[in-house]
Amino acid sequence: MFQKILVANRGEIALRVICACKELGISTVAVYSEADRNSLHVRFADEAVCIGPPRSSESYLNIPQVISAAEITNVDAIHPGYGFLSENANFAKVCEASEITFIGPTPEVIEMMGEKDRARREMKSLGVATVPGSDGVIEGEDQLAKEAKKIGFPLIIKASAGGGGRGMRVVHKQEELLNAYETARSEAQQAFGTPDVYAEKFIERPRHIEFQVLGDQHGKVLHLGERECSIQRRHQKLVEESPSPVMDAKRRKDLGAKVVRALEKVGYTNAGTVEFLMDEDGSIYFIEMNARIQVEHPVTELVTGVDLIKAQIRIAAGENLDAAVGEMNFSGHAIECRINAEDPETFVPSAGRITTFQAPGGTGVRVDSAAYADAVIPPYYDSMIAKLIVKGRDRAEAIGRMKRALEMFVIEGIKTSIPLHRRILADSEFAAGRFDTHFIERLLGSSGK
Ligand code: ADP
Repeated sequence: MFQKILVANRGEIALRVICACKELGISTVAVYSEADRNSLHVRFADEAVCIGPPRSSESYLNIPQVISAAEITNVDAIHPGYGFLSENANFAKVCEASEITFIGPTPEVIEMMGEKDRARREMKSLGVATVPGSDGVIEGEDQLAKEAKKIGFPLIIKASAGGGGRGMRVVHKQEELLNAYETARSEAQQAFGTPDVYAEKFIERPRHIEFQVLGDQHGKVLHLGERECSIQRRHQKLVEESPSPVMDAKRRKDLGAKVVRALEKVGYTNAGTVEFLMDEDGSIYFIEMNARIQVEHPVTELVTGVDLIKAQIRIAAGENLDAAVGEMNFSGHAIECRINAEDPETFVPSAGRITTFQAPGGTGVRVDSAAYADAVIPPYYDSMIAKLIVKGRDRAEAIGRMKRALEMFVIEGIKTSIPLHRRILADSEFAAGRFDTHFIERLLGSSGK
């Protein structure tokens, strides 16, 4: 097992990883930007190294800085969390070259999954249904016309290197096609450094359902059931739950088995999430795979009893899946609300000093957060400041519990999305489990703005 791990991240996930390390008896090193000097992850780690100015490009994304912090502190491994360098194949390679274990999949697998059109092809060839779409990157107008004819309208043009819900364009009719293609390419170039795009059928009322997986270094992969993440605003998840209200045992077993088989062929190691869209008729299609731990991992932890971060660490240290995962008992229902520092009506980020931070507790409530009273939320990073997660014996109990926990959660000094979450939880369609990815647009009575 590792002696010392560096956590190449900030906020709640850095704290979450440090907690897992503490429980495993592993020493921890935090890295931080000048804006995060007083952060909880810095205080809670055994050692901490400043890696640069506030801007992520100069600190959390700065590979030489992160690696030199790891070398100075003599760590055995780096946990990248999510975002930042977590899906950067080059970073994983540099770790390898520096003889530091990267806690995640191999650089080759990260690269494959990072090219979404390639991941689609790969999964399709391994027997997992993908959204009908182009065979790969669309290389010019002729291919665009051909693919559009094959797919039909509406279709969606997506950046091959896309992520975070960015770089997508829906095209409703032929006349819009060329313009959308060109805009998508230039947006992709700007956001992701490559203009590559591909096209898929646009599913009009999909549900987003994803499978959590873990793979060890001995060829074995396991799935830990699914999460439903259809409550989104602008393709960004707001509420996640497990199990999905529309997944039954047979389906879970069949699809789970397909996913596991495909990933064993790929040689997938460590934690990952395989994302699907479910059509209104119940068809379910692969859209992408995220080769890292995800924000919403706690809902899976609560319904399986597995500590996913500890499992990641143990797998990276070479343990086999059975030992790393331990006993898995599916029970109950878990829901997570992402609490963002933003205006609940305009969605404008709300940075500043938190004056009151009173987190809820009680039976079945978990709060993953690095926020505290008097903390300053800097404007440079993601606006998510806390995750409120509850577990109930069933979905109805989880909803009741989440409602009361949201009521108890007091954050003052900045604006948060708590009022929006209250509205979501109070909605009758949500309660009935009848929703799709456009739920928020309907709730807000507009385009989700
Ligand atoms: P990202 O990598 O940016 O998260 P994804 O491919 O995972 O992008 O898609 C994010 C979200 O965008 C999905 O959850 C869904 O809401 C929407 N989306 C993506 N592809 C389609 C599609 N083919 N049809 C309808 N909605 C889609």
